[in-house]
Amino acid sequence: MKKIYGIIGDPIAHSLSPVMHNAAFEKLGMDAVYLAFRVSPEEVGDAIRGAKSLGIAGLNVTIPLKEKTLSFVDAEEVAKKIGAVNTIDFGSGTPVGYNTDGIGSLMALKEAVGEIKEKKVLILGAGGAAKAISFYLDAEGARVTIANRTKGRAAQLASNLRNANSIGLDAELKEHVKASDILINATSVGMYPNEDATLVRANMMHPDLVVFDIVYNPMDTKLLREARRAGIKKIVDGVKMLVYQGAASFRIWTKREPPIEVMEKVVRDALSRDSSKSTD
Ligand code: NAP
Repeated sequence: MKKIYGIIGDPIAHSLSPVMHNAAFEKLGMDAVYLAFRVSPEEVGDAIRGAKSLGIAGLNVTIPLKEKTLSFVDAEEVAKKIGAVNTIDFGSGTPVGYNTDGIGSLMALKEAVGEIKEKKVLILGAGGAAKAISFYLDAEGARVTIANRTKGRAAQLASNLRNANSIGLDAELKEHVKASDILINATSVGMYPNEDATLVRANMMHPDLVVFDIVYNPMDTKLLREARRAGIKKIVDGVKMLVYQGAASFRIWTKREPPIEVMEKVVRDALSRDSSKSTD
């Protein structure tokens, strides 16, 4: 029987996950389909119980449901620590919750940088994505600084990590960028429709900095353009993280190795066609 997978969230119409996972199923010749379901925060419990009853094999979870989903699944340790679930596996009968955003970002970064241990990493943002990313980088032995508009959120996040400190986005940001090995934008700044926004400009960067923007719409963000202007060679865009978090979900559900290149190509093609894609 055909296996059904999907993503729940709101808004969901522009999610790139269906195109990415359906391309993977097709490439591997699997009898499976991946659909997008619009679910409000009030309905998330019903949706997860309903998915289990209907025999749905796996779900991704996106904004604004990632935190709320924790109450309706048996969450694995990492998802509990991050405080958010983006993947549900129904394979064992009980819905089990995972968070693959952090591992997705780590794989994207390691592809460009190699070893992360002892690297000075400046993360802009203290929201859901920043939490997942910082948890993995901290565990890898990076020296993390969290910079956030709301300083209290940055301090709160840093206090939950082993080796991290926090700053605001004011004057001290410049000196921290200069002193960092890796800069990660984990805010929504630069995302469609505010494509000309960036928190860090070329004159604040140095040529050996690695710049990673997790925003993928547009693929070439203002921050990445500024990095190129500063002569930076190692830049990583948000599509890489999107594909690697999707690939990690795919492995959890199917126990098979996903065709990453195919997944990346269909996502890049879709984003090139339609610059209004706005959710994961
Ligand atoms: P979130 O939980 O809502 O957090 C948003 C963060 O952005 C907060 O730190 C917020 O600061 C900051 N921010 C928003 N507007 C700002 C502004 N004008 N100036 C300075 N800081 C601002 O969102 P999220 O889930 O972490 O997602 C963040 C971005 O990552 C989104 O664009 C999302 O699409 C993208 N994302 C990409 C992937 C991927 O796979 N590539 C995965 C997940 C998310 P305050 O705390 O001060 O409000």
